[in-house]
Amino acid sequence: MQKGTISVQTENIFPIIKKFLYSDHEIFLRELVSNAVDATSKLKILAQRGEVKGEIGDTTIEIILEPEQKRLIVRDRGIGMTEEELQRLFAPFEQADGSTTRRFGKDSAIIGHFGLGFYSSFMVADRVEVVTKSWQKGAKAVQWSCDGSPEFSLEPVKKAERGTDVILYINEENKDFLEKRRIDDLLEKYCKFLPVPIQFGTRTEYDTVGEGDDKKEEKREVPNIIND
Ligand code: ADP
Repeated sequence: MQKGTISVQTENIFPIIKKFLYSDHEIFLRELVSNAVDATSKLKILAQRGEVKGEIGDTTIEIILEPEQKRLIVRDRGIGMTEEELQRLFAPFEQADGSTTRRFGKDSAIIGHFGLGFYSSFMVADRVEVVTKSWQKGAKAVQWSCDGSPEFSLEPVKKAERGTDVILYINEENKDFLEKRRIDDLLEKYCKFLPVPIQFGTRTEYDTVGEGDDKKEEKREVPNIIND
């Protein structure tokens, strides 16, 4: 396992997060879904250029709610990130010899590196994990984990599929985001017109089968795609 420290000082990041605190907490979901859409669009461009070899497969983005574990997951099958890309986002990164590499100047803002979008998840989560595997050949999956302090951990994990899972451990004050209805409403509000299919669980569909007296309704579970 590797350990590192996010380059952003608490003095820099907290005013930004606080700014969000006065606005709606709910925007975190829009931000994470929009990152997932970006990662998927980038993958499609690479595939069109012939840089991604083979089939890219189903690129549906999934929103997964696990209220018992207090988790909300945004899963994409986009370009993913390599360990180096993750490290760059959270520079400076602590080297094996204990020194740190500072890639941005003292006064540089975090915006544009790991920007406001991703960090907004800390408004609603005690802990955030990113499990990701890049599209690049031979890329190894990595897990980044942070409890909102400037310390984070980075370690290798097993992940079969290309793409990124952002896992939020929803905090007590925001536990309404663990309710299906709340997420349904937010997805309806923010995701209706996105260019990549967004799935939130399943829904029941009824088909009429048979003829005449044998006619009956049959139930089946189908993916609940928000933006059909
Ligand atoms: P912004 O999207 O405004 O650049 P973010 O903090 O939301 O800021 O994200 C920063 C960067 O992290 C993105 O530009 C992208 O390179 C990377 N990133 C975030 N989410 C994903 C994802 N789901 N898949 C791949 N890369 C991602």
